[in-house]
Amino acid sequence: MLSQALQDQLRAAGVHTLLAQFTDLHGVAKGKYLPLEQLDALLSEGAGFSGPSIAGTGLARQGPRSEYWGRGDASTAQALPWMPGYARLVCDGFVAGQPFDACPRQVLRRAEARLSARGWQLRTGIEPEFFLLKTDGRGSYVPIDDADRLDKPSYDLKALPRQAALLRELHLALQGCGLQVLQIDHEDAQGQYELNFAYDRALHSADRIMLFKLAAQAIAEKHGALFSMMPKPFADQPGSGMHFHASLWTGEGPTERCLFDGAEGQVLLGHFIAGVLAHAPALCALAAPTVNSYKRLTVGESLSGTTWAPAYIAHGPNNRTALVRTLPGRFEWRLPDAAANPYLASAALIAAGLDGIDRELQPPAACEDDLFALSLRQIADRGIALLPQSLDQALEALLADAMICDALGETLTQQFLALKREEWLGYARHVSAWEMQRYVAAF
Ligand code: GLU
Ligand code: MG
Repeated sequence: MLSQALQDQLRAAGVHTLLAQFTDLHGVAKGKYLPLEQLDALLSEGAGFSGPSIAGTGLARQGPRSEYWGRGDASTAQALPWMPGYARLVCDGFVAGQPFDACPRQVLRRAEARLSARGWQLRTGIEPEFFLLKTDGRGSYVPIDDADRLDKPSYDLKALPRQAALLRELHLALQGCGLQVLQIDHEDAQGQYELNFAYDRALHSADRIMLFKLAAQAIAEKHGALFSMMPKPFADQPGSGMHFHASLWTGEGPTERCLFDGAEGQVLLGHFIAGVLAHAPALCALAAPTVNSYKRLTVGESLSGTTWAPAYIAHGPNNRTALVRTLPGRFEWRLPDAAANPYLASAALIAAGLDGIDRELQPPAACEDDLFALSLRQIADRGIALLPQSLDQALEALLADAMICDALGETLTQQFLALKREEWLGYARHVSAWEMQRYVAAF
């Protein structure tokens, strides 16, 4: 649409301000406000940002390559129901007039282009789990709802209505942005919820997760709650996953079809998931990108009992204890957690799947066991490997995986490794309350 026509349309919808939004390497929404009259500039040149002020760009502090241009994607223009007068435009990163190789959205665009060169499209349904919290006045966070105390709070219909006003507002906000909300439930942990919306092309789903985060954060705040996508806020409760339901498609309109359907589709699905499993340790760095992520992906005993978070590199039909749960015509990639950058996780998933297809990798035998019920010895006997058990190990695995690094691009890989190593070192070097308690008077 011509920018003037879009501007008129937004003005008619009461919009006076544009929210030019991009996503940094950590998966956090960043941006700025522009008057609606700047739409043409936002769509052509872009909004200018100081490159080195954005996490993960690695851009210089001076000269032409210090400027990061967030160029608005007109097709994403959307008035925000929870912020009357404001419309979000998702931006792609540009530097010196060229697509910026280390912009996460550009990385996913490159991955999608590899698929579309074959006439294919990856569709993802991304399922965010999240906590609604408050401070207890003593510096700790606790569930927003003091009465949310069940040992097994999944699907709890006593606690859910107490958040109904907040969740309904979130539902309506997302619906107002064109998302088809499918379900909302109380999850497995006290204070934990999940909201699902319809699947779509990988890029659109990633854009929508960012929209979901913006909406949920703002609406939760209005209701006095802290919206948290921290992977594992409480050691004794399950963590928050962000599972991806993935399927490969070809054709358009009446000719479109899912390439994972039917007998031939099973073979292609097998190669794809074989790639996802073969690259699982490196994918871990992107899908579980924080120090805290590895408290969710625990092997063996966990302080929270069954976590439903997969630490085992396996796949199985409708098997939620495995990293890949296969379903008719699609698979669920259960590795990602709520802190994953959806663009980078999607791009890495595509790269891994395409590698499986190109090398015709065969998946290991399907696992029909409850992996949480097996001992580590039994798991090893089945030839099932474990995921990295720390951010440090996952970063090593990423560094060792040239194919995934290549798909992310050199700049982004270097930046990611540098920032995340710093995060790991900060954690590894600090002395925690647990250590003091355990050691201060022990020896
Ligand atoms: N919360 C679990 C996770 O961290 C998933 C629970 C579910 O299967 O919905 O992956
Ligand atoms: Mg869930």
